[in-house]
Amino acid sequence: MITGKNYIGNQQSAKGNKTYKTFNPQLNIENEYVFTEASQVEIDEAVELATNAFKVFRTVSGQRKAEFLNAIADEILALNDELIQVYCSETGLPEGRAKGERGRTVGQLRSFAVLVNEGSWVKATIDSAEPDRAPIPKSDIRKMFVPLGPVVVFGASNFPLAYSTAGGDTAAALAAGCPVIVKSHPMHAGTGELVASAIVKAAEKTGMPDGVFSNLNSSGIEVGVQLVQHPKIKAVGFTGSIRGGRALYDLASKRKEPIPVFAEMGSVNPVVILPEALKKQGESLAKTYASSITLGTGQFCTKPGLLLAIKGEGLTRFINYLSDEILRIEPSCMLHPNIVGAYERNKQKAISQSDLTLVADYDLDIKSNYARQTVTTVEGITFLENTTLHQEVFGPFSMVIQCENAEELETIISRLEGQLTGTIIAEDDEAINYTGVIETLRNRVGRIIYNGVPTGVEVCPAMQHGGPYPASTDSRFTSVGIHSIKRWVRPFSYQDWPNNLLPIELKNENPLGILRCVNSKQTRDKI
Ligand code: NAP
Repeated sequence: MITGKNYIGNQQSAKGNKTYKTFNPQLNIENEYVFTEASQVEIDEAVELATNAFKVFRTVSGQRKAEFLNAIADEILALNDELIQVYCSETGLPEGRAKGERGRTVGQLRSFAVLVNEGSWVKATIDSAEPDRAPIPKSDIRKMFVPLGPVVVFGASNFPLAYSTAGGDTAAALAAGCPVIVKSHPMHAGTGELVASAIVKAAEKTGMPDGVFSNLNSSGIEVGVQLVQHPKIKAVGFTGSIRGGRALYDLASKRKEPIPVFAEMGSVNPVVILPEALKKQGESLAKTYASSITLGTGQFCTKPGLLLAIKGEGLTRFINYLSDEILRIEPSCMLHPNIVGAYERNKQKAISQSDLTLVADYDLDIKSNYARQTVTTVEGITFLENTTLHQEVFGPFSMVIQCENAEELETIISRLEGQLTGTIIAEDDEAINYTGVIETLRNRVGRIIYNGVPTGVEVCPAMQHGGPYPASTDSRFTSVGIHSIKRWVRPFSYQDWPNNLLPIELKNENPLGILRCVNSKQTRDKI
């Protein structure tokens, strides 16, 4: 049942005096639940509890953390239809999407459980002592990853489950041994509260310290700002807009003790269609891309917002096909009236730029909070000279860039901001003739796709979700897959430390049987 209260550790609390409601965009009405925004006192309480919880949680074994993560997954599933109904009522997204996202969220939690239960992820590295080394004897040095401390997580509007309360950031931080305080997303506070209740139940059932998790309601930016500035917070995970992520990154850098902000932000995900592919596959590509642009009403960070190709008959035909295909698709609901407003504003801003042609703009009647899909086109030179056209329009909008030749195509790619993904569409043996274009694209993105679409981010260890700024604030990390745990740890060395005082991962006996690097050799052997 939704109470509208915050979770300060295991306790529910509502000391603030600001309240708000979520919105059902399909019905175009407010939802009934009333949420109380966290007060300054509650923010301090949550951080204090998390700080105390860290003293215990950082020493909890991998096996027990795995039990906790699996219990969260079980409790989320136990929320059953209530979670799905609340999710749909707060997002306008269909039931199938809600269930799919729940499956992904549960899968992420379980994959971290497997990781920490096995234990080798700490990257134990041991260099044995050489007391007789001349002229200076060598010490025994042993290194492993240790957790950073309490982490604040901001979820995105468009992934209420997989990138929010118990999403990838939270799962990775808990797996690492960091307590988490979630700044609940105001658009899906009910979904967030239900998931928070599942985490709290799981923490109690598996004996985790009170304060290992808190969920704070907020309808504006103040709660998040206070959390990021709190001296006892040690890192921030953010998924959302470039504007929001950058603001939090700047705040964190200006603190007396700067802390890392791992912000995963917007992207236009350039797709390069090479000439032979355009000629031979134009019609089917138009169908595929019309669906990808409008999937989830274009509300994906990997939506293809930019299609680049070399001018010619093939491109003209493709633009016509794309226009036909996209207008055949039934418009769908956006997440919130504010998102619809932002979509319309950003789209108009793009369309009003000079020398841009509107190719397709759905003009039949649509319901409130639904979005009209739109495709535009510009010449390469126009795009190069106007960086307004480079910005993400979050929603079912895409732009086709008509380049003069391969050189112009390469120049345009080289001037793009950092991106989550880039895609090359080519016929057999065609890509080999465009190595310059491909290399330039590789340098601007975190993931490069061959003959596919960028939407759909598989959760697996090899996935890179992140990219050069502004796709993310630190391109060395991913926010999807088990390697995302590396954001919440720091390397730590013990020098000449007695075996009985070392953590289990670094002991001579290797009781966990984990894979370690001992004197430059990968081994599970004891020393
Ligand atoms: P958003 O407006 O940036 O909001 C995200 C969260 O950040 C919200 O809780 C918001 O709080 C908070 N926030 C925003 N600006 C802030 C500021 N200046 N100071 C403090 N807190 C701030 O983004 P959204 O609309 O939820 O999500 C859509 C965006 O996310 C798109 O650009 C999409 O591409 C991107 N996205 C990226 C990924 C990825 O993995 N890279 C995944 C999904 C979505 P309030 O709402 O209370 O203001």
